[in-house]
Amino acid sequence: MQIKEVAVIGAGTMGSGIAHVFALGGHPVTLVEASQPFLDRALASVAKNLDRQVAKQVISAADKTAALSRIKPALNVEAAKAAQLVVEAVPEALALKRDVFSRLDAACAPETILASNTSSLPITTLAAATSRADRVIGMHFMNPVPMMKLVEIIRGIATSDETYRTVHELTVSLGKTPACSKDFPGFLSNRILMPMINEAAYCLMEGIGTREDIDTTMKLGMGHPLGPLSLADLIGIDVCVAIMDVLYDGFKDSKYRCCPLLRQMAAAGRLGRKSGRGFYDYEAAPKPQTAKV
Ligand code: NAD
Repeated sequence: MQIKEVAVIGAGTMGSGIAHVFALGGHPVTLVEASQPFLDRALASVAKNLDRQVAKQVISAADKTAALSRIKPALNVEAAKAAQLVVEAVPEALALKRDVFSRLDAACAPETILASNTSSLPITTLAAATSRADRVIGMHFMNPVPMMKLVEIIRGIATSDETYRTVHELTVSLGKTPACSKDFPGFLSNRILMPMINEAAYCLMEGIGTREDIDTTMKLGMGHPLGPLSLADLIGIDVCVAIMDVLYDGFKDSKYRCCPLLRQMAAAGRLGRKSGRGFYDYEAAPKPQTAKV
């Protein structure tokens, strides 16, 4: 199946990056948000990130103008109806995502593929909110989307070979590299990443090392671009807790128990970069190094 028009539902951190990448790849994109201020913020963020790419000579000024002209903002999910592929990127809440999937199922043509950017929720459960489980799939972009090469593709229990092939080919055409995961808790990426972050939090809680010792060990010893505690601050401490809970609930294995320090920080509102304080203080202290778009 040929994908031309795309819709993205939710234009936060991930949705705006996903719209950016599709628009730059030549696809008309309908970008759907819950309110006008969020839409305005998303379009400004896409423009700013395209400007950075122009400044770095990754793209031309004409590419930027063309990409922006391909993004059509909208305020209701039904505006996605002309798309051959919809990528959902609303917050990580099962009831909200199931509601969006059921509305998309009613609005879109029967052959439209419905994809979710979920980090951890079961694709099979989202598919069950639709009448097209064979055309529902996980398309898990990484943050920041314009920079990160990986797209984790998750096949639900009923995802068809044709849907998988279409999304795989599309991913490659965007200049990304796909990796396929079965639909089990955490998929591949978070099943491997989150226990490492969780263990780093245990090491800090137990006083095995300071935050700098822990991050330096993984950066300089293992070649990671960011230490696990800095990365947790970038992802969001609340998101880390939620993903550990998905792993624990899914496997009922004590190795996935969430570190009490992470849970305490989330309860205190120390959520990382987005709240100004996590393992590091982002208002007073210099910020740990992060990837730039
Ligand atoms: P976010 O909170 O930054 O953005 C979500 C956006 O969805 C918000 O702007 C919100 O206004 C909008 N929204 C809520 N309900 C809506 C609706 N009914 N219709 C349209 N828009 C609606 O969240 P995010 O970090 O971009 O995460 C989105 C998804 O991507 C989640 O499933 C998350 O797990 C996943 N994800 C996040 C990251 C990350 O690093 N942030 C990485 C990979 C995957």
